[in-house]
Amino acid sequence: MKYADVILPLPLDGLFTYSVPVQMEVSVRFGVRVLVPFGRSKSYVGVVARVHDCEPQGYKVKPVTRMMDAGPVVTACQYELWQWIADYYMSPIGEVYKAALPSGLKAEDGYRPKTELYIRLTPQFGNARALHLALGMLGRADRQLKALTEYLALSNWDRAADMADNGGVSHPVPIKEITREELMNSSHASLSTINALVKRGILETYSREVGRLNNDVEPHPDNIKRLSEAQQEAYNAVLFSFLKKDVTLLHGVTSSGKTEIYIHLIQRELDAGRQVLYLLPEIALTVQMMDRLRRVFGNRLGIYHSKYSDAERVEIWRKQLSDCPYDIILGARSAVLLPFGRLGLVIVDEEHETSYKQQDPAPRYQARSAAIMLARMSGAKTLLGTATPSMETYHNARTGKYGLVELNKRYKGVELPEVCVVDIKELQHRKMMHGPFSPLLLARVREAIDSGEQAILFQNRRGFAPMIECKQCGWVPRCRNCDVSLTLHRNMNQLTCHYCGYTYRVPTECPACGGKELRTRGYGTEKIEETVRDIFPEASVARMDLDTTRTRNAYERIIGDFAGGRTDILIGTQMISKGLDFDRVSVVGILDADSMMSYPDFRAYEQAYMMMSQVSGRAGRRGKRGLVVLQTRNPQLSVIRQVVDNDYSGLYTDLAVERQAFNYPPFTHLIYVYLKHTDDGIVDSAAIELGSRLRQWFGMRVLGPDKPAVAKVKTLNIRKIVIKLENGIDMKRVREYLRMAQSGMMEDKRYAALQVYYDVDPV
Ligand code: ADP
Ligand code: ZN
Ligand code: ZN
Repeated sequence: MKYADVILPLPLDGLFTYSVPVQMEVSVRFGVRVLVPFGRSKSYVGVVARVHDCEPQGYKVKPVTRMMDAGPVVTACQYELWQWIADYYMSPIGEVYKAALPSGLKAEDGYRPKTELYIRLTPQFGNARALHLALGMLGRADRQLKALTEYLALSNWDRAADMADNGGVSHPVPIKEITREELMNSSHASLSTINALVKRGILETYSREVGRLNNDVEPHPDNIKRLSEAQQEAYNAVLFSFLKKDVTLLHGVTSSGKTEIYIHLIQRELDAGRQVLYLLPEIALTVQMMDRLRRVFGNRLGIYHSKYSDAERVEIWRKQLSDCPYDIILGARSAVLLPFGRLGLVIVDEEHETSYKQQDPAPRYQARSAAIMLARMSGAKTLLGTATPSMETYHNARTGKYGLVELNKRYKGVELPEVCVVDIKELQHRKMMHGPFSPLLLARVREAIDSGEQAILFQNRRGFAPMIECKQCGWVPRCRNCDVSLTLHRNMNQLTCHYCGYTYRVPTECPACGGKELRTRGYGTEKIEETVRDIFPEASVARMDLDTTRTRNAYERIIGDFAGGRTDILIGTQMISKGLDFDRVSVVGILDADSMMSYPDFRAYEQAYMMMSQVSGRAGRRGKRGLVVLQTRNPQLSVIRQVVDNDYSGLYTDLAVERQAFNYPPFTHLIYVYLKHTDDGIVDSAAIELGSRLRQWFGMRVLGPDKPAVAKVKTLNIRKIVIKLENGIDMKRVREYLRMAQSGMMEDKRYAALQVYYDVDPV
C-alpha cells in the first residue's frame, strides 16, 4: 500500500497522511493536487509532498478521493521555499500553501477556463455546392442572408474555397475563425437571426478556450537605451560582484538610471536563456514599470500580483509550468511564490520598502528575504536596488556579506535638489505661518505655477484632520473597537477609524459637556487640499492617498494627469514618494517632517529619512535644479541635516551606533510575540505568564510584555513581547523553545480563546 503526505490549506503544523488507492498509484507523486476528506464531512484540495509506503500507526487512514492533476503544479524548489518560509516565519506550511496558490487551484471544482462561442458552417453546408444551395434557400429571409454573407466575408471564405479547389479538397477550412459576438456586431444581426441559421443546419456554434493574458506585444530589444559611462561602470561592477557574491546591492541616487541598468542585466539573462523575476514593493508601481519593460521585452514579460483576477493568476501559474513560460515576471510580493524553471536573476527594486513584509494574515514573510532564498535555491543571483537602503541590507553590504555597487550621479548630470529647512516653531511664534504653509513654500509654489511648472506637497496623513476635540472640555471621539482617536473625513462627512475601518457620524454637540463647538486639530491631506484650492484658485490641484485611489485605475489617472502636465499641484501621502519620474516639478514641500519622526518605533528616523529623501528625489528637471522646502519644529536634528546633505552614509553611521548600543537590528534579530483577547484581564495574565516562561529560555533577551502604542484593535486587547536574539543564533532551536513556552502556557483553560502569533524580523 502507498501513502501520500499531503499539505492542506489549514493553520495546522505538519502534513496529513492518506492512503493511495491502487488505480492512482502510478500517478500520485510529489507536486500533484489531490482531493482528500478531512474530519467528518469536509474535504480539501491538498498538494502531495511525499509518497511512501510506511503505514501510519494509531489511527485509521483515509484514502485520497480524487486526483486533480496529471502532472505536478508545484516544483521541488517552490516546496523548499515554502518550508523555509514556514520555518523561519513560524507559520504552518498550510498557511504558506494558502498564500502561494491562487484560489482557483485550491478549489474543488477548479478554475473554469474562459471560453468564447465561435461560429462556423456545418460540415453539411461547408462546401461550395451546398453553400450555393443554402444561399438560394434563404431567398426571402433577408436578415439571415445578410448575416450569412457577412460570415463568409469575415472568415474570408472565398479564398478558403479557392485554396480548397486548388488542392482538390471539397471542404474548405475557414481562414479566420469568427466568434458569434463578432458576427452579430458586424452584420447587425440579432441573436435570433443567428439562431435561425443554426436551426436550418447551415451554421453551428462551438466553444473554445481563450487566454485572458494579453500577449500581442512584440519585443523590441532596440528600445534599450545606451548606458552612460557611469551606468556602464556600475553595470560591470554588478556583474563582477556576482562572481563572488550571490547578493549585490545597487545603491544609486534617485534618477541615476538604476532601471536602465536592470534592463541591460535582464537582456543579458534572456540572451543566456534564463528567467528573471523583477519585484516591486507595490502594485501601483508595476503598471508604470510594465510600460517601460514592455517597450523592450514585449510579450516575454508577464505581470503577477494579487489585484489580478484569480483566473488570470491561475493562467500565469500554469504558463510558468508549461514549455513556454514568461522569461520575465514583474510583480509584487506574491510573485516570489510562482514556479520558475530556469531562474537566473532576481531584482528587488526599492528594496528598502516596508511593504515587502507581509503583515496580516500569516505567513508574515519578508519578500526580499524570500527572494534571496529563492535565488539561492535556484542557483540565481539577487540584485537589491534603491537610493536609500534598509539598515539591514546596507549593513550586510558594508560587512561584505553582500556585494556593494554605488552610483552617485544622476543621469545627464541633473543635480540633486536643494533642500531648504524651515523652522515652523519660530515662524508660528512670529505669526508668519499661513496655516500649514511657510511663506517660502507659498512663494515657491506660486512661482512654479506662474512659470508653468509643478509642485508636490507631501503630508503623510490622510483624511481632513487627524483629530477633532470639544473646544470647551477637550473631549476627543474615539473608536469603540480600537484604542485610537478618530480621523475626520470631511468629504464624506464622517469620522473614520484607520485601524478597523469603522465609520461614525460627526457629532453635532459634545456628548461629555453638551458644548456646541468641535474644532479640528492637525492637517490631513483633505484639509491641505482645501487650503491649497483657496490660496491658488486658478491652479489645478489633485490629491493622491488611500482615499482617492480606491477605484481601479485611479492611481494611474492621477499620475498620468500630473506627468502630462494637466495638474499643477499634487498633494499626497507617502504614495507620491515612490519611484515616480516627473520632469516638470520645480518644488517639493514636506509640510510636517515631525509627524514622521515622532512615531514610537526604533525605525522612526530611518523611515522618516527614506520618505523625505524619496519625495525630495521627485524635484528637479533637466537643466534646472529643484527645490525642497522641508518644514519642521526640530531643525537641529541630525536626520534633518542628513536629508539636506543627501548623506545616507552619515545616517547609517549614526543609526548603527544607536542600534548596536541598544541591541537592535541589524545587530540582532527581533521576534515580536503578540497576544490578543477580548478580555483585557485574560490577555494581561497570559502575557505575564508567557513572558516568564520565555525568560526561562531566553533570559534578558525578553522584553515586556507591554501594551503596544495602539493597545486595542477590532475589540481585541493586545500585548506584545519583544525577543532580541543575537545574529547567528540557531533559529530552529529558538522556534522550538518558543513553541514549548507557548504550549506550556496554553495548558491553562482560561486561555483557550487566546490568539498568539509571532512576527519575525518585524518592520
Ligand atoms: P532610477 O531608477 O535610478 O530612479 P531611472 O532609470 O528611472 O532612474 O532613470 C531616470 C530617467 O533618466 C528616466 O526617465 C530614464 O529613462 C532616463 N535615463 C536614465 N539612463 C538613461 C540612459 N542611459 N539613456 C537615456 N535615458 C536614460
Ligand atoms: Zn465637551
Ligand atoms: Zn477601530
